[in-house]
Amino acid sequence: MLPTRLGYPMNNSYDVIVVGAGPAGSTAARYAAAGGASVLMLEKDRDVGYPVRCGEAVSHEGVIQFIEPDPKWIASTVRRFRIIAPDGSSVIPRLDGIGYVLERRIFDYEVAKLAAREGAEVVTKAYVYDLIKNNGAAEGVKVIIKDQKVEIRAKVVIGADGVESRVGKWAGIDTTCHIGDMESCAQVTLTGINVEDDILDFYLGDEVAPGGYLWIFPKGKDSANIGLGVSVEKAKQKAAIKFLEEFIEKRFPTAATLTRIAGGVPCAKTCDEIVKNNVMLVGDAAHQVNPMTGGGIITGMIGGMIAGQVAAEAVQKNDLRYLFQYEKRWHKRLGWRHEVFYNIKEATEKLDDQTLNMLCKEAIKLPEEKRTIGGIFRTALWNQPSMLLDVARVFIS
Ligand SMILES: Cc1cc2nc3c(=O)[nH]c(=O)nc-3n(C[C@H](O)[C@H](O)[C@H](O)COP(=O)(O)OP(=O)(O)OC[C@H]3O[C@@H](n4cnc5c(N)ncnc54)[C@H](O)[C@@H]3O)c2cc1C
Repeated sequence: MLPTRLGYPMNNSYDVIVVGAGPAGSTAARYAAAGGASVLMLEKDRDVGYPVRCGEAVSHEGVIQFIEPDPKWIASTVRRFRIIAPDGSSVIPRLDGIGYVLERRIFDYEVAKLAAREGAEVVTKAYVYDLIKNNGAAEGVKVIIKDQKVEIRAKVVIGADGVESRVGKWAGIDTTCHIGDMESCAQVTLTGINVEDDILDFYLGDEVAPGGYLWIFPKGKDSANIGLGVSVEKAKQKAAIKFLEEFIEKRFPTAATLTRIAGGVPCAKTCDEIVKNNVMLVGDAAHQVNPMTGGGIITGMIGGMIAGQVAAEAVQKNDLRYLFQYEKRWHKRLGWRHEVFYNIKEATEKLDDQTLNMLCKEAIKLPEEKRTIGGIFRTALWNQPSMLLDVARVFIS
């Protein structure tokens, strides 16, 4: 029997249980509930949206698929981005759309509210520690809510439990991220600095962020998220936080630090399986991050939306084999693109500082109307034809 106090689920059994209330989980819960399923979302932390482990940058086009932009969760509106080569030269590509640096603790909270508005139940301080299984197939979850062990049944379990996902492993899905694809990240939020509040800065090069990049994402004119990702291989020689501290000592020696975080980003292709044994994986848990940029908020929400819709349809049809539609729809919508981005990442990672400097100079020479991401990429291919092979691999493999 479930305790009947506030903060516990209202029922012993649901159509869909979502584990994790990040953007991917909340979106899965929202669309499953909108599709008519009874939904419970369980979050281990006390508060949805906190702690924040993110640079918080998203595109306007990405966000508006799910929620109307609202000043209460927008720290900065950005209209440009700048790529800074190892020798300090920089290029500002033409950007047609705009983007935002979020206040994710408010954003995640609002996204969870959308799920609740569709009828999903949300319970925090609920740590899922295993699946209830019958012949390998999930039939619910085992969860500790306020120190009490509880079993809750469900037809479908959606694992939205982030980069360290365990739901997938419990279901027999191989969620291991190859060490070469894992970026080790460190970030601080600084204040008392001077930044342009409408531009995202990306620093490249072995000195600042080998095998990755360093970012400065403004939160107003006097604060910013400053972080970097380096390949785990490089981080073995020198930790990501060391690279970051050296940069900050040079650039912002007197700044005050508001937050410090570290975390991994799976810059990989989507897991080979994202549906198994009545379990679906979404977001970081399924490696749905854009492998080139490391951005996973919107892509995880897209994965969550598709999974939620398919879960509700499968429940309506009373046919859980239908869950495999999610794999098909995900790959058609974004999975195939991530394979292309993955190969571009593989190719660009090999570029040394000298080549990056040269490419930046070539990009600066482009007339403004051609100085788009596509234009710069074409210039890179022209100057570095070996990259073409890496990109083409996805179409011929
Ligand atoms: C340093 C850094 C910077 C980043 N910058 C950006 C950026 O600028 N833009 C961008 O788009 N992406 C960025 N990302 C990636 C982005 O943060 C993730 O892709 C995104 O948060 C994934 O969302 P999610 O819902 O899959 O997982 P998460 O946001 O990680 O949410 C998972 C949730 O599951 C909960 N949970 C985990 N285990 C359990 C359990 N057993 N029981 C119950 N609940 C559980 C967690 O508490 C958490 O709330 C960055 C990542 C890092 C590390």
